[in-house]
Amino acid sequence: MTRPALHGFFSVLDEVLTGSDCYPLHQPEFQGNEWIYVKDCLDTGWVSSVGSYVDRFEQGLQSYTGMRHAIASVNGTAALHTCLLLCDVQPGDEVLLPTFTFVATANAVRYCAADPHLVDISPATLGVDPIKLAAYLDSHTRQDNAVCINRHTGRPIRALIVMHAFGHPAEMDQLQQLCEQHNLALIEDAAEALGSFYRGRHVGHWGRVTALSFNGNKIITTGGGGAILTNNEDLAKKARHITTTAKLPHAWEFVHDEVGYNYRLPNLNAALGCAQLELLPRFVGQKRQLASRYQQLFAGSALGHLVTEPADTHSNYWLNCFVLEPQYAGLRDQILEQCHERHILARPAWELMHRLPMYQACPRMNLSHAEQLQATLISLPSSPVLGAVA
Ligand SMILES: *Cc1c(COP(=O)(O)O)cnc(C)c1O
Repeated sequence: MTRPALHGFFSVLDEVLTGSDCYPLHQPEFQGNEWIYVKDCLDTGWVSSVGSYVDRFEQGLQSYTGMRHAIASVNGTAALHTCLLLCDVQPGDEVLLPTFTFVATANAVRYCAADPHLVDISPATLGVDPIKLAAYLDSHTRQDNAVCINRHTGRPIRALIVMHAFGHPAEMDQLQQLCEQHNLALIEDAAEALGSFYRGRHVGHWGRVTALSFNGNKIITTGGGGAILTNNEDLAKKARHITTTAKLPHAWEFVHDEVGYNYRLPNLNAALGCAQLELLPRFVGQKRQLASRYQQLFAGSALGHLVTEPADTHSNYWLNCFVLEPQYAGLRDQILEQCHERHILARPAWELMHRLPMYQACPRMNLSHAEQLQATLISLPSSPVLGAVA
């Protein structure tokens, strides 16, 4: 039973992965105006944190996402840190976030001297499970002057960070409602989800603030980069201010009115971003085509199934994920090993946050869905170019 199933798995990969001798999870592609825009920065000398490409990139993000404000930052982690500061996360606070996420989500909370409070995900969306969270908040928190308090630690729970895993949007209507009921600020970690829509609107519209990433492995890249999205003008102003060393505008004086950060995206990186943003619709199309190809070929596999976009969403399918049936969980590492022998750089999911040394003492709920998924999930090569050859 195992042997033919494994054989079938690899024959699908052999069919999809052709034309190269190595298959990373996500390879960037520069076939638009990248050279022209970056060269223009060098020719004009506008390479650093001021320049027209930063404005253009921010405007491009606004019009693509339909969000009122986009503030470009040096990376997605800095964007998340800024989002937490904008939501007034204080030292000693707790912030709810999924244990199933990339470490940057939890790290950003610690940068505020606050503690991650880890919650479980829904197996259908891979995002925060609203049903489990609702029951948990009812039994483990109380309200004190419109602040949500952890009954066990006595500390304020200030915010919920929802992460759209592998590009698939979480159940934002339910989660937004829960946040309103319990006086939690809602933050979206949309680092993986540029190009993903929930109920017809781009992700980011539900959170008070949202973080994007343009790291080298994301759907578009600026080399390194990120952005903060919000529809709130005051928060947008504050985001611009604290990411620009909190400097007061003046032609020559250096006056800063609070501790600020050097978090703004350089013009050189924004130039790359402008060219990549022009290609984004094509990338999303190719990735969705690749996803449907994988789905067709893996249909009926005895080993497991692919993660597909949740109901009412249009996912960017940043990474295609194969989930093994529970009885085959023991095969995960063997499959990964065989993939790597064939230069197919498949990966498991991230180690769960509650198992990392710096977060294992954090408050948390029962995390059974995340634990099950982490043991059985394999991310497959998902570069847009693979969707183009189909
Ligand atoms: C990539 C990523 C980040 C961090 O973005 P960087 O630009 O690498 O700092 C944060 N959260 C998630 C879920 C990510 O995938």
